[in-house]
Amino acid sequence: MAEHQDGKLVVMVAPSGSGKTTMARRLLTDIAELRFSVSATTRAPREGEVDGREYYFISKVEFDRRVAEGEFLEWESFYNGTRYGTLKPEVDFLLKKGYFVLLDLEVHGAQNVKNMYGDRCLSVFIEPPSLSVLEMRLRSRGSETEQSIATRLERAAYEMSFRDRFDIRVVNDDLEHAYAQIYSVVREFLKS
Ligand code: ADP
Ligand code: 5GP
Repeated sequence: MAEHQDGKLVVMVAPSGSGKTTMARRLLTDIAELRFSVSATTRAPREGEVDGREYYFISKVEFDRRVAEGEFLEWESFYNGTRYGTLKPEVDFLLKKGYFVLLDLEVHGAQNVKNMYGDRCLSVFIEPPSLSVLEMRLRSRGSETEQSIATRLERAAYEMSFRDRFDIRVVNDDLEHAYAQIYSVVREFLKS
């Protein structure tokens, strides 16, 4: 592994269902020095999600205790009070080990992290071709209830209004084409 005294972060942002997880997994496979910062959340695990791999799944009481103890670099509450947050020790540990860090955040968390790390942070916004395609993808993933699809679509429209505030913006229409764009910008940023 290369030496990275300052360390760099890549923050991926996308309305839920836009393909962020798909892109993030591929980046983590293709770039050996990149590691995922596992966030904490109060939502329930989806089928196949493992505690400590996709998220640290914790209760609201536990989450709020950690907020009070200053353990979060940033955190947000949305989808009717579900909390999501980046743990400071998680990011610091990875940076200290010399890894590049990949974060998967919603718009506000992403902007906060970008403001904290400045040029050491690349922010990538992935957008779906349209809200109707997004709805189709959310349904095809099979992980959401009707209520949760409606909540996510409402939030998606809101998040799309921030899309111009990120370093790069990629439309995830054709997966291979979108991934090639993201991979090339991320690679370039990490090399620079
Ligand atoms: P997110 O992490 O942004 O919520 P996912 O990566 O889980 O999104 O993608 C949502 C669904 O859309 C998944 O079933 C995924 O396989 C599918 N998907 C992702 N990108 C594309 C694409 N370019 N074309 C078609 N389906 C896609
Ligand atoms: P999901 O429930 O689909 O896994 O995630 C919902 C949203 O929460 C996504 O937009 C995801 O990027 C965001 N998210 C995940 N972890 C964090 C975090 O630590 N902080 C913030 N601000 N958002 C997060």
